[in-house]
Amino acid sequence: MALVVQKYGGTSVGDAERIRAVADHVARTRAAGDQVVVVVSAMGKSTDDLLRLAGEVSPTRPPRELDMLLTAGERISMALVSMALADHGVESASFTGSQAGIITDTDHTRAKILEIRPNRVREALAEGLTPVVAGFQGVSTERDITTLGRGGSDVTAVALAAALGADVCEIYTDVTGVFSADPRVVSKARRLAKVSFDEMLEIAATGGRVLMLRSVEFARRHRVPLHVRSSFTWEPGTWIVEEDPTMEEAVVSAVTDDTSEAKITVGGVPDRPGVAARLFRELANRSVNVDMIVQNTGTNGLTDISFTVAQTDLALAREVCETVRAEIGAAEVSSDSQIGRVSIVGAGMKSSPGITALMFETLSSHGINIEMISTSSIRISCVVRADRVAEAVRHLHTAFGLDAVRGE
Ligand code: ADP
Ligand code: ASP
Ligand code: MG
Repeated sequence: MALVVQKYGGTSVGDAERIRAVADHVARTRAAGDQVVVVVSAMGKSTDDLLRLAGEVSPTRPPRELDMLLTAGERISMALVSMALADHGVESASFTGSQAGIITDTDHTRAKILEIRPNRVREALAEGLTPVVAGFQGVSTERDITTLGRGGSDVTAVALAAALGADVCEIYTDVTGVFSADPRVVSKARRLAKVSFDEMLEIAATGGRVLMLRSVEFARRHRVPLHVRSSFTWEPGTWIVEEDPTMEEAVVSAVTDDTSEAKITVGGVPDRPGVAARLFRELANRSVNVDMIVQNTGTNGLTDISFTVAQTDLALAREVCETVRAEIGAAEVSSDSQIGRVSIVGAGMKSSPGITALMFETLSSHGINIEMISTSSIRISCVVRADRVAEAVRHLHTAFGLDAVRGE
């Protein structure tokens, strides 16, 4: 008898019919002899709807209250899935994140899990019940309700799977697995049967939102096997696994796109030691995550520093930069939200020369200008204009031989 954590995303529980289909699948898994812990997201786009409503009511949106509001979405799903399970003769009990023992820090709207005490979930399992847990939420060390950041139900599922020692964590979504590019952008994207944790981390970090980045980090650290699959077709999907040394590594496995970031440039920065440290320390102190960083060669003792941040952090990051600018005597702070990032990811890139050149040639042959570049050992990212991102992804997908052939 295996213990399976099954996480269902927003589209998977989007309406009454979908919820009944999910309950049916859970019932089938139980009937096959496995124990199941269900983790659910809010129905459809209800988290976006709640966010919009909050904005209409109050531009201030105190983070504690915003979290209280947003967790309602997942509560609705958990209760409805439990009801649908009752109809299938499966005895279940729903739990909020707090009841499931998800203890977080106090960083509202993007809290990190500090500890998991899933006693009630364990007790429910021991009594033969199927626990249904509200994803995306926890309770802080100050006893306030928190949320784990957008897409956070993936983290709930993986964290519970790790804490319970589950055999597998299944992520059910609206596509049949992890693809060589977002199938909504590249119609010729192909499903990958297996992806290494290292590659999945890069894919998740550069826009492949099929799995939230932190859930992949958590799964790797705690060695939780992940299986991403469809709640519409129920067919086997993509396994995220430890890198297997005998596996032939694809040079490029996936092309990703991300238009959720903005670029900030601090111009006329005095070119002396400690200035960059001062800027990025202050950003870190305000919990702003900085992504790509470029510093130009100095002229006349002055230089420019550009970096990217999430658009949601742009106002805060600009405010921090403005304060530091005055302090260090830099000339100006400017920003640009019309940027996008396109990346290629592949474990085999390490040992294949010419990949960077082919990426740059492909972009330039289509007249797409590269504004920033960053690399890791298995990824190359370029910042381009936001409105060129989709075509950049499609051209790169073709250039690296990833397009699915007909009939595949
Ligand atoms: P859920 O609500 O189930 O968590 P998400 O919307 O968070 O679903 O993630 C699934 C979506 O991720 C897909 O609909 C797809 O458009 C998008 N996506 C982006 N990149 C990829 C990729 N490389 N492979 C699969 N899906 C991807
Ligand atoms: N409902 C939350 C969101 O939309 C969490 C999730 O779906 O994983 O971000
Ligand atoms: Mg998601």
